Order: sequence, then C-alpha cells, then structure tokens
Amino acid sequence: MRRGAGLAAATGVAAAATVVGSRLVGRALVGRTEARLCVTTNPPPYRASDRAHALHETLWVADLHADSLLWGRDLLERSERGQVDVPRLVEGNVALQVMAATTKSPRHLNLELNDDRSDDVVLLALALGWPPATWRRLLPRALHLAARADDLAARSDGRFRVIRSRDDLAAYEAARSLDPRLTAGLLAIEGAHALDGDPAAVEVVADAGFRMMSPSHFFDTAFGGSAHGIEKGGLTAAGREMVRRMEARGMLVDVAHASAATIDDILAVAVRPVVASHTGFRGVADNSRNLTDAQTRGIAETGGLLGVGFWPTACGGDDAAAIARAIRYAVDVAGVEHVGLGSDFDGAVPVPFDASGLVVLTDALIDAGMSDDEIAKVMGGNAQRLLADVLP
Ligand SMILES: [Zn+2]
Repeated sequence: MRRGAGLAAATGVAAAATVVGSRLVGRALVGRTEARLCVTTNPPPYRASDRAHALHETLWVADLHADSLLWGRDLLERSERGQVDVPRLVEGNVALQVMAATTKSPRHLNLELNDDRSDDVVLLALALGWPPATWRRLLPRALHLAARADDLAARSDGRFRVIRSRDDLAAYEAARSLDPRLTAGLLAIEGAHALDGDPAAVEVVADAGFRMMSPSHFFDTAFGGSAHGIEKGGLTAAGREMVRRMEARGMLVDVAHASAATIDDILAVAVRPVVASHTGFRGVADNSRNLTDAQTRGIAETGGLLGVGFWPTACGGDDAAAIARAIRYAVDVAGVEHVGLGSDFDGAVPVPFDASGLVVLTDALIDAGMSDDEIAKVMGGNAQRLLADVLP
C-alpha cells in the first residue's frame, strides 16, 4: 500500500470517527434537552379502577397532537424520556397518534410575543445529523420528519403504520379489530412556515402524506398570525390560498396557536371541518393561546374537533382530573361530538402521564360523571369519524 493512501485512509477513519463522535455528543445533548423540557409529572406505572381498565380496552383512542418525531429517539424502543413511542402507544391502547412536524421554533419562546429571527430547530437538525438541505430551509425539515415516520413504519414489523387515506384507515381498523396491539400515526405540520413562503408547497406536503397543518406556530407567518406573534394578524392572501389547497387535498386546517384574527378568518372561509389539534379554553384557563367560547362553538359548527390539551396552561391544572374538567367544559360549549384529545405529548410541556397511562384519563372522565358512550367519543371515536369523513 502506498504510504499516502494509508495516511488518507487513516485520516478518513479519523474524520468518520469525529463525525460519529460529534453525532453521539449531539444525540446526548438533544436527549438531555428533551428530558428537561418534556416532563411527565407522574411516571409509569399507572393505576386505575377495574371499571376504567375494562372500558379503556374497548376504546378506539386517538390523540391529535404529539411532537415525538422531533427529538431523534428511536420510537420503536420504549424510552424513559418523553411520552410517546410505539411500545407506550400500544400499552396505552392508542389506535392513532397524530405526529406533528415542528420545523422552526424561536429561542426563549413565550406565550405572548415572539419573532421569527431565532431558530432552535436548526440546532437540533445539526446535532441529530439531519440532511444538509434541512439546515437552511424548512420544507426539507418537514419532509425529513415525514420520512422518519415512514422509516419507523418500515422497521416496525407491521406494528406501526402511517395513515394517509380513507382506505388506509379502513384497512387499519379491520386489522386492529383482530389485533389490538397495533398502532398508527397521522402526519401533521405545526406552522405553515414549513412551506417556505409558497402556498403551492401545500401540494408537496400533501404528496408526502401530511394530513393536517396550522398556519402558524410561535411566530406570525406569511400565511397567518400566531397567538404568540408580534402582529397577531389575520389570514393573508397566501393563507387563504393555503386553506383552499389544503381542503382540496383532504388536509385538516388546524387553528392551534393561531391568533384570534386568523381563527376568525379561517372559520369564515373554511368549507370543510376545522380542528384545534391541541388547545385550551379561556373559560378554563384565561390566556391568549386558549379559545373563547365563540371560537369553540365556531369550530364545532364546521363539523370539526377540539383536541383538549393536557398541560397546565391549557387544562388549568396538573392532573388527569383537571384534563377531565377541561373536557367537560369543552363538551358543554361545543357538544360531545366535537371534543377529542390534544395531549401535546413530547411538546416541551409538563403532562401528568405518558401515552401508556391514558387509562388514568378514562378513569378521571368516569369520575367526572361522563357516560361510557361519551367517553368513547371523546377518547377517539370522534377523531375516527372525522378522519373517515375528510381523508382523501
Ligand atoms: Zn403546539
């Protein structure tokens, strides 16, 4: 072997080792951040009444929002971090978990006022070794996260699948009625900044399998204002085009995090059901992120769904009883057909249990005086019905 070639090979090995080493360090840093931000107040195992266990086993449970794709964990493995992975979804009898792509998140994010100049997700992308295309642009980040979900499904031995169509849903329901240890995901985008400013990119994300999207996340976008933005304005012309294109492709328009003006504009132009994937109610916890009763009723009137949040500034407390109270409030305002779950699992907020502990919520809903039929609707029956209706 020539001396130079040997040296080059050795340098290559060293470089590869550095990349692998920095990737390991990056993963460890992201893992530490996830553990710090995504707190489960009561870790497993969970206790519930016999009646709750018996009822929970019969439910088709669906949750409208989790950020589990973001953190780089292998979701096939049960983790002590965060709240969602395939084993915990199965243990919690979760039939469907909406998995959101968060593509940009400002530093020092807060409920009141954020601009779009900082970007914490790029740090995550670098630390986790996402493809270079994701470093500057946001659409490739969404597509990367969709690919992660597909990769998870491909490696899962059939235990996890991504639902994209009515036919997918029907086939999955049939399979799951024979084997309840199956689970599934539905792809969503948290904030239309993921379209890199181009409403026509709705076609790209729809082709990738995304079936839900909100106009904004923590900052105002080219499409609409955020409840946490600077201007907090309404839907823009590009935002109206986005809504039209989404509805034509069977995507659900999600008003979670939207400014009040944008929510009102969406309710005025939408001709299909609108959702608030993870939300709270001002009548329960009065802050700018939460919905007024009029907005809550407006969403119900579209035939849509309100995903009740599990974190304190949404449900007004830090236990399952508080979530059950918020659910009862939503049912009173919107009607029982229009209420579902919007945990925000793995979303950098504290929650009282992880996905394996959803029976605790079933128990709290029994204690709150809801009937088995009402509980079945709220825990996922309504989401199942809505998806069967709107999916392409
Ligand atoms: Zn969110």
